[in-house]
Amino acid sequence: MEPLLEVRDLKKTFDVAPGPMGGKHLKLKAVDGLSFNLREGETLGLVGESGCGKSTTGKLILKLLEADSGEVRFRGRDILSLSQRKMRPLRREIQMIFQDPYSSLNPRMRVGDIVGEPLRIHGLAQGGAIREEVIRLLSTVGLSAEHYDRYPHEFSGGQRQRIGIARALAVKPRLIVADEPVSALDLSIQAQVVNLLQDIQQEFQLTYIFIAHDLSVIEHISDRVAVMYLGRIVELAGAEDLYLEPRHPYTEALLNAVPVPDPTLRRTRIPLKGEVPSPIFPPPGCHFHPRCPYAREICSRADPPLEDKGGQHFAACHFSSEVGRYRKS
Ligand code: SF4
Repeated sequence: MEPLLEVRDLKKTFDVAPGPMGGKHLKLKAVDGLSFNLREGETLGLVGESGCGKSTTGKLILKLLEADSGEVRFRGRDILSLSQRKMRPLRREIQMIFQDPYSSLNPRMRVGDIVGEPLRIHGLAQGGAIREEVIRLLSTVGLSAEHYDRYPHEFSGGQRQRIGIARALAVKPRLIVADEPVSALDLSIQAQVVNLLQDIQQEFQLTYIFIAHDLSVIEHISDRVAVMYLGRIVELAGAEDLYLEPRHPYTEALLNAVPVPDPTLRRTRIPLKGEVPSPIFPPPGCHFHPRCPYAREICSRADPPLEDKGGQHFAACHFSSEVGRYRKS
């Protein structure tokens, strides 16, 4: 079956202006040759520390940013080559949910109008049918008809995220790019919103790209997980595989940061040295080598390709078979 979404060698650089002391314009490689497929109904978790390019990837897929090169094929059509006019009908099918629902909801509009606006714009309902559909959508996301005439500031963070989800659902999308949709919420509310996203996935046959900066958030919702580091995917595998047997030291380090409630299951700490390097000056060879506990001489010279290490478990590491050494010792 043809994938719903195919991303091939996607690249995006940003110009960085010189500092007050002058100098050259520099290039920041935000997304550096990303490739992956997404099957209909699947959830791909896209994870990495801030600045790794995951949110830029989401915006490139939605054409909210123009890519430098590469392909994004949605239902077989290369959307990067489409004009804004030809893109318009596809926009309905690809929606985004944002991290901060407050800034993405117009504070001067009532909830009924916020959720109903896309129905009007895309001509999906008219007159009284809009109100009926909005009330149905509000109830789908756990809100009610009495919320229809209220303003965004009258809601909690979790409720505002529900409004954002209802607005995205209004146009009956097939793919939703959820950009850190629960990062700004309290832990208890995070679980509720993730559960809601799982419930509506079944009901509306949705496909998700779920962007997060930590692996715990996406563990239960993802079918597969792609781990990004400095604009590249360094590991891509089925979620269970990746959580049980990571093949990239960076994934292993991220897993170590995930709290484990049962102390007998606590993972051995692996030293993750230093900060994420600047994407303007990525380290040579494997970009992760200055922080990697497994690094050897070759790592600073040769850039490891993203390869299938068996069973569709992809990793970009010269020594992927050794990952887990510290946990097992
Ligand atoms: Fe670490 Fe070398 Fe693997 Fe890079 S290639 S992740 S530096 S062991």
